[in-house]
Amino acid sequence: MSFIENLIANTIRPEIRADAPYHVSESSGLIKLDAMENPYPLPPPLREELGRRLADAVLNRYPVPTYASLKHQLCARMGVPQGYDVILGNGSDELISMIAMALSGPGAGPRPVMMAPVPAFVMFARTAMLAGMAFVGVPLRADLSLDKEAMLAAIATHKPSVVFLAYPNNPTGNLFDAGDMVEIIQALGETGIAVVDEAYSPFARASFMQRLPELKNMIVMRTVSKMGLAGIRLGYMAAAPELLEQFEKVRPPYNVNVLSQITAEFALEHIDILNEQASRIIAARTSLFEALSALPGITVYPSSANFLLIRVPDAAAACAKLVKSGVLVRNVSKMHEMLANCIRVTVSTPEENSAFLDAFKASLISH
Ligand SMILES: *Cc1c(COP(=O)(O)O)cnc(C)c1O
Repeated sequence: MSFIENLIANTIRPEIRADAPYHVSESSGLIKLDAMENPYPLPPPLREELGRRLADAVLNRYPVPTYASLKHQLCARMGVPQGYDVILGNGSDELISMIAMALSGPGAGPRPVMMAPVPAFVMFARTAMLAGMAFVGVPLRADLSLDKEAMLAAIATHKPSVVFLAYPNNPTGNLFDAGDMVEIIQALGETGIAVVDEAYSPFARASFMQRLPELKNMIVMRTVSKMGLAGIRLGYMAAAPELLEQFEKVRPPYNVNVLSQITAEFALEHIDILNEQASRIIAARTSLFEALSALPGITVYPSSANFLLIRVPDAAAACAKLVKSGVLVRNVSKMHEMLANCIRVTVSTPEENSAFLDAFKASLISH
């Protein structure tokens, strides 16, 4: 073995050595429908105004780490209940890491457990691994609904310190039954934190945010990524102030940079534009869902997010044919056995959706 190979073997822990970095597909020149991005940019006059604001950014100073004005705007515009606050992350990915870091490590006692229904957002299990937590995935039912009984039994057995529930769920797109979610959150009680991950809330018209006072062990996590600002990396989570205070100790003090802060404040002042874009995507989701439902030999699942899950006869072949036609979607078949031959496609503009639909229909015809 070489010097570097020995160095790695002597220092990097085995779980990391055995792992692969988070995979992002090459997308240049393709219609990009693999990452749930909003296809609509800000209108040009707003972009010019934002440019002027960014020109005034104080780049030579650290950000002010309280982020008071941005947090105030988020609370006001995102329906955070009175008496509750938010904490910011460099994307909600960082918030997931902060939660795991606060719950695990020396002093935590026997290996703490993170739990989530599966298939779930891949960053839950990945973050648990990185933080040294055990991850317990509880399979959804075949119809992709939450298996409440199995979740309650797993909670009793494994005593998780945190349960992640994505609402709507990724990669399935559905909203779990709210009553089931409440029972699970209440079952955790004082021994576990429930994180309701509402990354897709702009497309869902359903939220747990207003239930924070009632469900005291709950954190509601959101991101601006799916609503049109994936590039700025900003996530936030709302919970009881005493709980957030604990996570503040884990948060890197300057984790949101000034350019993202200014851009987010600007976007929140113009939230009506982002909301209008979300409405267009919701309408397009209905059209695409109906068009796909009419196709023989495939199954499209109802979605409350900005993507659709589709089961096809051969996902690998379909994805390869789609790429040849210039369309990139995500093959999620390998994520979980329940998703065998499933692809996930972002709902985009009417033009990109029909380009996808044409290419998809052609991909179903075997040669
Ligand atoms: C996309 C996604 C996120 C990640 O959000 P970022 O803020 O971009 O890090 C979080 N949770 C779920 C369920 C997602 O699908």
